[in-house]
Parts: sequence; structure tokens; C-alpha cells
Amino acid sequence: MRALVVGAGIGGLAAAGALAQNGWETTVLEQAPAPRTTGYMIDFFGPGFAAAESLGAIAHLQRHGEMYSRARYVDQTGRTRAKFAMESFLNAAHGKFFSILRPDIETGLREWVGDSVGIVQGARVVSVDPGRCPGTDGPGVPARAVVADGRDFEADLLIGADGIHSTVRGAMPAIPGTRVLRHLGLHVFGYVFYDPELAANLGREVVLSDSLVRQATLYALSDGRVTFFGVVECHDPDPAPDTREELFTKFRGLGSDVDRALDQRPAEIFEDVVAQAVVPAWSAGRCVLLGDAAFAVSLLAGQGASLAIAGAKVLADALGSGNDIPAALAGYEASWRPLVEQQQEAGRRNARFFVPSGRRALLLRRWSLHLMNLAPVNAVIARRVFGASVVGKGHPGP
Ligand SMILES: Cc1cc2nc3c(=O)[nH]c(=O)nc-3n(C[C@H](O)[C@H](O)[C@H](O)COP(=O)(O)OP(=O)(O)OC[C@H]3O[C@@H](n4cnc5c(N)ncnc54)[C@H](O)[C@@H]3O)c2cc1C
Repeated sequence: MRALVVGAGIGGLAAAGALAQNGWETTVLEQAPAPRTTGYMIDFFGPGFAAAESLGAIAHLQRHGEMYSRARYVDQTGRTRAKFAMESFLNAAHGKFFSILRPDIETGLREWVGDSVGIVQGARVVSVDPGRCPGTDGPGVPARAVVADGRDFEADLLIGADGIHSTVRGAMPAIPGTRVLRHLGLHVFGYVFYDPELAANLGREVVLSDSLVRQATLYALSDGRVTFFGVVECHDPDPAPDTREELFTKFRGLGSDVDRALDQRPAEIFEDVVAQAVVPAWSAGRCVLLGDAAFAVSLLAGQGASLAIAGAKVLADALGSGNDIPAALAGYEASWRPLVEQQQEAGRRNARFFVPSGRRALLLRRWSLHLMNLAPVNAVIARRVFGASVVGKGHPGP
């Protein structure tokens, strides 16, 4: 059986590798001309960790991972307002937790798939025909993807793993008048820069700003690089370039380390709205959605990458060698949708905690973070952050 995967991101690479293990001939179409190098830090845990273990990919990811000892919230004057030990998260996840740059997850997954899949860079898919499985409507028709330069690809199955602004999603049945993206009122920026001195000062601490309506976070990498990611309140779901530049200036004044990070903004940065994808049906014909394209949970849920990898394994397990595609696609959605909807709800609950919009919310966050240092409270919070799947109840995971 032949599969086409649109998007060589986290979900796409995981799905391609998992299908190749099941004997599929798999091609991945990626719009970027080369593998990505910039991005933001991801905390990796939960169902994706278990899936990566069972797919044999975890060592490739851990090789690029980082561990941190503490998270510290610092105000504009440099005063520490709250802190908590990362060890508590590590314990709650039974040691299955590390941090890794988004581009490094992709590098690790590329190492893992090796030459078992074909990856075509610079292939931006502009239109998709979902095709048809053989049945009462007539004989089978292959799925098709057309690339911007006119190349045309056919397959028995097409997986749309093309992220939150998915093109493939256009081939899915829609409910007229409903929005697929649920905007969460925030805009995010992220990048990586080289500053060994700042990296040494940050050490193994994640440093976050204790601030209203915006949140800046710095992580040092072991090789002297530093990642900045900033989230700022923005109620426009599609801000114009000028507005985005203005939003970026709002991180200025959050402390000397943040200002230093802003001064080193490279030409290429990651930037996007913070949103969730609410898609009424994940498949049509021979076409199915995966990862952020189907069920973006947003950075507020902190498990999008994990769910993309775990979802890829659930999908590949359901497909097997591809004997009954309609049943497999229905089974994938039925088993996976409840867990991602639970995570989306958790993400929405976290919004005000993540970026407090008023002084009361900021004080409440400081207080909650202090409480996190108490073991019983920490266990409850860890359960909320990690979800029941990691701490022993609920969805059995992939
Ligand atoms: C700041 C931030 C922090 C986050 N932190 C965490 C965290 O701590 N833990 C966690 O698990 N998750 C986290 N996430 C979420 C996580 O990054 C996403 O959920 C994850 O990247 C989704 O993977 P994906 O493969 O579905 O999509 P993506 O990673 O977006 O990949 C989509 C791919 O498709 C390609 N593409 C798009 N359109 C086309 C097209 N038309 N043709 C061909 N290719 C195309 C893109 O170039 C890209 O390579 C965070 C997100 C952000 C923004």
C-alpha cells in the first residue's frame, strides 16, 4: 500500500515511520526547502513518550533532549517571585519527561525513519482530492495531492499532518458557519540564538517573567544557545504585520535577560496565533488528518507534540497493512478524539494561569506556584498538567 503524508513535522514524520514499519511505501511532502532549524522548547511527556518508546524512536529523541532542575518566575527588577522544582514533574511522569527543541524532535524523527520513507522538501501541497474507497458508491479512486510547482502525487491513503493552518483540511466535510480554529486570545513568538554567557547564567533553570498580559520564557541549551518564547495577549485572530511587530515590542522591559534576548532576535523566527483546531470529521474518502491539523490543543495544553506522535501510532495501529481503510480511519477517530478533547479543555482552563491579565490573577498564580512546592498539592497539580493517562487512570495510551 502507498501512503502520502503532507507535512514533515512531528506528526507527519511519526506517521510515516510507523506506517513504514507496517510495510507501507510512504512519501512525505514538505513545503519547507530544508529541515527547520529554529523554533521553541517543548516539554515532552505523556502519551507521545510511550508511543515513541514502542515505535523505537525514543532514544533518537532523548539524544537531543535537555533536562532542567527548576522553573523560576522573575519580575522586571530581577526579583524571584515564585519557583518550583522540575523534579516533581519528572516524578509525576515516572521519569518519562524531558525538554527538546521543536526542530530537534524533527531531527530525531528523521534519524529514526532513516531511508524507510521518502521525504520531498520544497513540495507545498496546494490542493487535495480525498479519493474514494471501493464500496457502494463505486470502485476505488486513489487520493491525490497537487504541489505548487505542478507535480501530482497519488496514493491509497493521504495523511494531512500539515499543522494548524492545514491545507488538507479543506478536503474534509465542514459544518457551514462554524469556525475550525478556536482562537485563544494570544499570539506567540519563538526563536533560538547563540549566547554562551547568557546560557551559563541561566544554567539549568527555566526563567519565566512574572508579568501581566505577556509572558517571556528563556531556556539555555547545553551548547551555548538560548531559546526565547513569548506569548502576548492579542484578540485579533489574524494580526497584520505591523500589529505583530508592535506585539513583539511588548516583551521589552521584562528584565535584563529578556531584553538581551530581544536584542538577538534572528531574521527567521517562529510566530503564530495561539488556537485550537475543532474539526467535525477527521477523515473523508482516503484522506485523514493528524496532529495539529486535526486536533491542535495549543501550547496552553503543553502536549501537542506528544499527542501528534501518539496519534500517529494510534492511526498506524488501526491501519495495520491497510486491508480496511474506512474501518481503520473510523476506529482511529473514535478512540483518539475523547483524549484530545479532554486536553483541549485543559488548555482553555490554563489560559489565564499562563498569561494573567490582571493583578489578582497574577497574585493567584504566584500563590499557586508556591503551593506547588508542597508535595500533596504538587501531586494534584501534576495530575492536572499531565492528565490521567500518565498518572495511572483514564485513556490507556497508545
Ligand atoms: C510556543 C509553543 C510551545 C509548545 N510547547 C509544547 C510542549 O511543551 N509540549 C508539546 O507536546 N507540545 C508543545 N507545543 C505544540 C506542538 O509544537 C505542536 O502541537 C506540534 O508541533 C504539532 O505537530 P504537527 O506535526 O501536527 O504540526 P507541525 O509541527 O506544525 O508540522 C506541520 C508541517 O507541515 C508542513 N506544511 C504545512 N502546510 C503544508 C503544505 N501545504 N504542504 C506541505 N507541507 C506543509 C509545515 O511546514 C510543517 O513542517 C507548543 C507549541 C508552541 C507554539
